[in-house]
Amino acid sequence: MMELKTDASIDAMYEAGQVVARALTAVREAAGVGVSLLELDEVAHDVLRAAGASSPFLGYRPHFAPTPFPAVICASVNDAIVHGIPTRYRLRDGDLVSIDCGAQLGGWAGDSAISFTVGRARPADVRLVETAERALAAGIAAAVPENRVGDIAHAIGTVCRTAGYGIMEDYGGHGIGRRMHEDPPIPNEGRPGRGLRLRPGMVIAIEPMLIASGRDDYHVAPDGWTLKTNDGSRAAHTEHTVAITEDGPRILTER
Ligand code: MG
Ligand code: MG
Repeated sequence: MMELKTDASIDAMYEAGQVVARALTAVREAAGVGVSLLELDEVAHDVLRAAGASSPFLGYRPHFAPTPFPAVICASVNDAIVHGIPTRYRLRDGDLVSIDCGAQLGGWAGDSAISFTVGRARPADVRLVETAERALAAGIAAAVPENRVGDIAHAIGTVCRTAGYGIMEDYGGHGIGRRMHEDPPIPNEGRPGRGLRLRPGMVIAIEPMLIASGRDDYHVAPDGWTLKTNDGSRAAHTEHTVAITEDGPRILTER
């Protein structure tokens, strides 16, 4: 069962979401050839600290994880899809980077992710990132009262599959509120008209994860966290925290 949020709670969640938005903007501005993933983590951490927010990522240890997550962002480069741990790795010309960030402020969580290229972009990466953004927009457009979770999943999946991309199985969006991960799961592929009915006051994180080769399979890297494509092809990830309202979807992490 999912807690329905009041308008005042959604306004409070917007404040948490805006901290995430500012952190992602700062990371993107700081990113470039030669910049390390640990430096990007520090940029995001500075934004959270300045806002008086804490990180729901730092120290997070879900059931599958061998160690608590050590950073405030996930930084997933090239064939890493999601959950990349920031390391001393320095970004190279043509890298494709996905940054996921969360914030906890005033008792509420926000969660958002962006993908972008560094230096001279490969045309294939530009198309992949643009499609990930279109998939996110399509999912958000379907996040309206009386639709169902399956309508969001179908909207995302249709954009990804039509473009020929793979979709990560078993991972997707989620409800969000006082905690970052709440019910219901929001899959990235599904059947329209199926699943939980959407109601005003629901808040969800919508997050397409696309694999360039069109294959869906992936594996866990030796660090126990990073999920990578099996065939080495590149991946992109976009995410927003979205409130379902009578007036339509409200993007709480909008930049
Ligand atoms: Mg996220
Ligand atoms: Mg999320």
